[in-house]
Formats: sequence, C-alpha cells, structure tokens
Amino acid sequence: MSKKVDIDWGNLGFSYIKTDYRYISTWKDGKWDEGKLVTDNKLTISEGSPALHYGQQCFEGLKAYRTKTGEIQLFRPDQNAKRMNESNKRLLMPEIPEEKFIDAVKQVVRANEAYVPPYGTGATLYIRPLMIGVGDSIGVSPAKEYLFCVFCMPVGPYFKGGMAPVNFIVSDYDRAAPHGTGAAKVGGNYAASLYPHELAAKSGFADCIYLDPATHTKIEEVGAANFFGITKDNVFVTPKSPSILPSITKYSLLYLAKEYLHMQVAERDVFINNLDEFKEAGACGTAAVITPIGGIFYNGALHVFHSETEVGPVTKKLYDTLYGIQFGDVEAPAGWIVKV
Ligand SMILES: *Cc1c(COP(=O)(O)O)cnc(C)c1O
Repeated sequence: MSKKVDIDWGNLGFSYIKTDYRYISTWKDGKWDEGKLVTDNKLTISEGSPALHYGQQCFEGLKAYRTKTGEIQLFRPDQNAKRMNESNKRLLMPEIPEEKFIDAVKQVVRANEAYVPPYGTGATLYIRPLMIGVGDSIGVSPAKEYLFCVFCMPVGPYFKGGMAPVNFIVSDYDRAAPHGTGAAKVGGNYAASLYPHELAAKSGFADCIYLDPATHTKIEEVGAANFFGITKDNVFVTPKSPSILPSITKYSLLYLAKEYLHMQVAERDVFINNLDEFKEAGACGTAAVITPIGGIFYNGALHVFHSETEVGPVTKKLYDTLYGIQFGDVEAPAGWIVKV
C-alpha cells in the first residue's frame, strides 16, 4: 500500500466520505457491460429515470474488515448478492450475476485500500452496492436500462466507548404492507420509515419498533434492523414474517447461537404483549452488528429487559463471536469469509 490518507480512524462516524474509486456497470439491450472503476462520484441520468419517479431501485450494505495480520476480508458477500437479486426480482429489475457482484465489491475495496481502517480501531470499510432503473421513460413500467454501482467509505464503530443498550418505542405506523416490499431492500421502505423515526427520536428513543402490518400484535423490525430475544430458558428467538427484511447478521447470529453457543433457536412469532418471556433482547444488522435493547415503550409503559445500562451476558457473547469472526480472530464457518 503506497497511498496514505489523512483520517482520524478513532473518530469516524457513519457519514459520507468520498473515496477514490467506485464501480459502475450498465445493463442495456438485455445484458450487462464489462463494468469499470471510475473516479467521478456523480451520476448523470435521464430526468425520466423510473428510479426517480417510481422508486425502481434497491441497495445492499456490507463491510470489509482489516485483520490482525493486515489482510482485508469480506463477510458473506454471496448473501448480499443473493438478497439483491431477490430485491431485483420483486421490482422487475435484471439479475446481477453473483460473481459479478462479488468481483465489483473486491475491485472497489482494492482500489480504495488506503481507506480500509487499521485493525484494532473497530472501524471498517462500509460498502454500498445499488441498482437503479434509468433512461428516458415516463409511464409506470420497468426501466429499459439499469445502473449497478458500488461505492465505499470508512465508518467508525457504531458504539464509541463500548456497547450500550438503547430504548425503542413501538410505532403506530407500518414500514411495509403485509404482502408489499418489506422483504426487499428497497428505498421505498426507507422513505416510509423517515417520519416514524423522526417521531420516535423526538420522544427520546433511538428508533421505533414496527409491528406486523396485518394485526399489529407481533414485532417485525427494530428501525432498520432485525429483532432477537433470549428467552428465560435461553432460547435465541427471532420473528418470522414475510414482511421482514431477511438480515444476514440475524441469520448468522441464529447459526452461531446454535453451533457455537449450543443454544436452542427458534424463528417464530414474537408477541408485543409477551415481552416478559425474554431476559435479553437486541437489534442486529451490518451497521451496528448488535444493538442491545434496554427497553421497549409500548402502551404507556417501558418494558425493560436485562438492564437499561448494561449489556446482557448472552448478547455480549453473541456479539464477541460474530465480531471475532468478522475481524478474523475467531474461526468462521466454512464459506463465510472472502479474502479481498
Ligand atoms: C439491511 C437491513 C437490515 C439488516 O440486514 P443485514 O444484512 O444484517 O445488514 C435489517 N432491516 C432492514 C429493514 C434492512 O434494510
């Protein structure tokens, strides 16, 4: 590595930083072009692009980690590629071959190697793949051209000064419809969540909890993260519903709880009026890894799990195991780690 960048690794947050290179590939006349790295971070697209009017777009999020020996690795990028293709199918966008997706991610990480934070800082390189429907169009129909882009930036650890529980409030709003696009990683779900998030934040909560849109009795998502709870008899439980975004972190924790911590696991309904069954709870996703849930405000009362200030022991163990795997300090299940 020759280039050096002037970044205070210890004080990074989660905000946009322009790195040197990004990848772009165009789909036209039924096929993807070669794709290439470019330096310009601006896209020039038609004002008629369906992504701008009708939300025909989707995205992904993953990270590159620097190990103790200085190597760079990705965590389950094949799962991101597969999930992007599920989103693509739902929005009538073309599939991106899994190898092309992973190759694009690797190219972007290599080209921006100087921006991959050093081991031990807790910071990582956040990678954002996206696809948008573009071209001259105005009627409500799928685009005739698409752009697949990948860019990246260094981000800090979610919790400076260590993991700490936060409180959430149950929202009266829904982020997705019962048979809508809840399971697809599309911008429309996020646009719908901005207002409920704002209300939760104004009331002093980290974010809101969305219940199932059909009956409003079961937990679905915690802001833009999945929910898990540890029952009093030590079962790792996570909600099951077709309108939840299938979090790769969540399914990884489910596997680790079973295979590494030898716990029982269950994917099933989690009723909002039965939170007493859990001794610990958390939210999980790529950005935060795990956010311990201190309490949930519902029906005028705050239900506290383990503690509002301390992280529960099972949550801590799950976090340490996953974090250790991502940074190369704990042996990973076969196929989870991809070297860049
Ligand atoms: C991306 C996302 C998650 C987390 O998924 P990971 O694969 O674990 O990063 C959870 N909920 C929503 C709504 C998301 O968009």
